[in-house]
Amino acid sequence: MITVLRLGHRKGRDKRVTTHVGLVARAFGADELLISSKDEGIERTLRDVTARFGGKFRVKSGVKWRKIVENWEGTKVHLTMYGEHIDDVLPKIPNNKDLLIIVGAEKVPGEVFKAVDFNVALGNQPHSEVAALALFLDRFLEGEGLIKDFQGRMKIIPSKNGKKVVEIDD
Ligand code: SAM
Repeated sequence: MITVLRLGHRKGRDKRVTTHVGLVARAFGADELLISSKDEGIERTLRDVTARFGGKFRVKSGVKWRKIVENWEGTKVHLTMYGEHIDDVLPKIPNNKDLLIIVGAEKVPGEVFKAVDFNVALGNQPHSEVAALALFLDRFLEGEGLIKDFQGRMKIIPSKNGKKVVEIDD
């Protein structure tokens, strides 16, 4: 199981980016998004996408993130530009244990850097939690996330020059 934990979400200001963190988490192969502060709007949006496009992605906001990090029984990874380069650290991350992936918004508390097993940099330049998460999941799952069949009510048929969507009636 892969869980993404989004820290420091500011309701209103971070709505769009946190929604994109959730969309990327789901589309690139994670199972769940936890958000440190309560935001029912984002929960609704992501549940609606899952209801239409399939999969079993879960979302929960307003979680007690310190407890989650403290009690996590699998591997804990924090994505940060200050971490070890992905190329150096990826071979050390087990792929047979539950994985918690932490991404920040603004400044991430120092305790997080110490609480995790790996601080991972997708390059040591500042960019974005959305890009960092997408790249990490794609590398970690070796592209598997992108070919997953979500078995959704709505299915997009790849097309060279148009929009083809098949909708399955219940
Ligand atoms: N200066 C901030 C900091 O203290 O890390 C950067 C904030 S950045 C806009 C928001 C999040 O994007 C970070 O918390 C981190 O999870 C992710 N991020 C940005 N650049 C990254 C990189 N090069 N590698 C891994 N994660 C990155």
